[in-house]
Amino acid sequence: MLKSTSMQQNTKVAVPSPATLSDSLSDFALSKLAALEAKNQRRTLVDTARSQAMTLSVDGGAPLVSFTDNDYLGLSTHPDVVEAAKNAADAYGAGSGASRLVTGNHPLYRALEDKIAAIKGSEDAAVFGSGYLANVGIIPTLVGKDDLIIADELVHTCIHAGIQLSRATVKFFRHNDVGHAAELLAQHRAAHGRCLLVVDGVYSMDGDIAPLKALGLLAQDHDAWLMNDDAHALGTIGGGRGSMHATGAEGLVPLQMGTLSKAVGSYGGYLAASKPVIDLIKTRARSFIYTTGLPPAAVGASLKALELIESDAAMVARPVKLAQTFAQALGLPAPETPIVPLVIGTETDALKASVELATEGFKVIAFRPPTVPEGTSRLRFSFSASHRDEDVARLIEVCRKMGLGG
Ligand SMILES: *Cc1c(COP(=O)(O)O)cnc(C)c1O
Repeated sequence: MLKSTSMQQNTKVAVPSPATLSDSLSDFALSKLAALEAKNQRRTLVDTARSQAMTLSVDGGAPLVSFTDNDYLGLSTHPDVVEAAKNAADAYGAGSGASRLVTGNHPLYRALEDKIAAIKGSEDAAVFGSGYLANVGIIPTLVGKDDLIIADELVHTCIHAGIQLSRATVKFFRHNDVGHAAELLAQHRAAHGRCLLVVDGVYSMDGDIAPLKALGLLAQDHDAWLMNDDAHALGTIGGGRGSMHATGAEGLVPLQMGTLSKAVGSYGGYLAASKPVIDLIKTRARSFIYTTGLPPAAVGASLKALELIESDAAMVARPVKLAQTFAQALGLPAPETPIVPLVIGTETDALKASVELATEGFKVIAFRPPTVPEGTSRLRFSFSASHRDEDVARLIEVCRKMGLGG
């Protein structure tokens, strides 16, 4: 009797009021944020109004020239691309209404997938809601818990998410180290069923390119499937066709994944592969099936942007050229992509340099851990076809004045 009473009392006391519940939740968030703040790893959003591709206003302030966007060709604000988005919305509405497998597969999708396949030199393509959704869908569709994934240690975070969802055994090789990948394959391949070898085509924080030819040959030797994430390569290298074409690895990369949100200037992700693989992806990839189709405007914009990429070789070549001009002027290694990293070291110093560049009229983000390894906080400059020669010349002048560079 006594026991039961005390239990009742305990139960009563233990049921928290809604206010207590939300307090403990907010307390958790506040303490977590404070810990991150102490490490300079707290992130905040600012209002960023982009009027023309590389000119933007932060929190309503004076316009800055951005060397931070991934809009490598300025296509996000190209009049023809914006017009194509408007036309698509007029024709098919603001939203797609359902998953692509239900009623969300508006006719622009087929045209876009054919265009992607043509540019990437593959039989077919599948368009996803984003690059992130593509990676978390593709990887678990192709490998499972009895299989093996060999991945570069610097692959994008959404590849890690896809790897975790797949439950495959994973081994990471040292960045761009084909010999290390070969060792891991020799050691682990035989004990597993299927095997995926995953890399980024271009690494977003360093701007270097994966050695796809050597990796492709290695994959063939071990009956592994090579997948490249070409988020930063489509529209920027290989004549706009991406890393496989830039490295002479045609025929060696059966899985070419990428995004439509960077050089293409719109939104969406894709996989270019053989027809059977694409059919399987569209049948099984959960992030393809259980999510709403893209707004028609995004698909229409991507299609027009890819037509421009195909037809304007000078536009496609310009970002890398500007990156090379900048790097040479500051004594930095010659880049092969539009990305030039300038490693500063500590979070504090990198943030300080970013703030100073803003006072000079430039938006350049400081990338900090965990996005980059500890102690390598950096400014990352990305160049776009829409930058004017004089923007780059003044950036060089300001960086020199700040003592940046080699
Ligand atoms: C940006 C990026 C993604 C994600 O693409 P979204 O379309 O923005 O989701 C995937 N992989 C790499 C390497 C990226 O840089």
